[in-house]
Amino acid sequence: MVNGQAAATQRSGLKVLLASPRGFCAGVTRAIETVENALRHYGAPVFVRHEIVHNDHVVARLRAMGAVFIDEVGEAPDDRPLVFSAHGSPARAHAEANARGITLIDAACPLVLKVHAQVRRFIAAGRHVLIIGHSDHPEVEGVTGQAPAECFSVIEDLQDALSVAPPDVPLSYVTQTTLSVDDTRKIIDVLKKRFPAITGPRKDDICFATSNRQDAVKTLAQRVDKLFVIGSPTSSNSKRLVDVARAAGVASAMLIDDPASADLGVIKAGDVIGVTAGASAPEELVEALLTRLADAFTLLIETVETVREDVFFKTPPLAAAG
Ligand code: SF4
Repeated sequence: MVNGQAAATQRSGLKVLLASPRGFCAGVTRAIETVENALRHYGAPVFVRHEIVHNDHVVARLRAMGAVFIDEVGEAPDDRPLVFSAHGSPARAHAEANARGITLIDAACPLVLKVHAQVRRFIAAGRHVLIIGHSDHPEVEGVTGQAPAECFSVIEDLQDALSVAPPDVPLSYVTQTTLSVDDTRKIIDVLKKRFPAITGPRKDDICFATSNRQDAVKTLAQRVDKLFVIGSPTSSNSKRLVDVARAAGVASAMLIDDPASADLGVIKAGDVIGVTAGASAPEELVEALLTRLADAFTLLIETVETVREDVFFKTPPLAAAG
């Protein structure tokens, strides 16, 4: 016992600052609950076009419950329900599912659908739309899928903003919801300078959850030596949290998909560690990381709350089971 006490007192202490808000946003919670509700209501299998949200753990859990993840509507049978992911889907995917009489449940985040509606209005008014975002991200596929491809130019970075040569018609811009707030502002500034008549949302379309999580990281960055961001490599908003931390001076900012295999050897005595999670990362992964840290150190945990989020989105209604 005496030896045990001695061992306990030899453990080094570790200060951990937990970002708040972190993890699931209202749109992700709604999307996951939509699949769970569909499984309960219709029974398994329920088909889901694309990962419902970009997190491997969430997808694995829903798969174990009976969800089947597919890339295209063509892979789904006619007689099973099909859920569209939180990222929003192109009009052709809706048309194909409806033409085949598939029971369709759209789990697209209402904030993404707002951007779709904005884009359709711009294009109906004869405007060409510059979409600021990542061309390989499903959200951008969903936005550009609202109208023919020639109506859009995708702007991925400052270089694209400087070189884009849109057709000679009125221009508008929209943005992906999960971008870096600061990088996007720079891109919009370049576009406004090059095309002074361009119109767009008042600021950008980056959602409250993305900006709140980035603000929380900026606050933590002033006090931590290292930052762990829980999130999958496919998650745009999680990767942006790493970028934001590095831009704010945290050289050692790491994305952690699986806390069980995270390299904790990088932690040095006296370090202050920041922990946050992307909007698609479940809180249980934050807890798993803290448990691993607590196995190695005596933890002193402080939650740093920058804003309180109380947004809630209702899940879509389900048609009667056949
Ligand atoms: Fe909706 Fe924003 Fe969450 Fe995406 S990150 S699901 S846009 S609330």
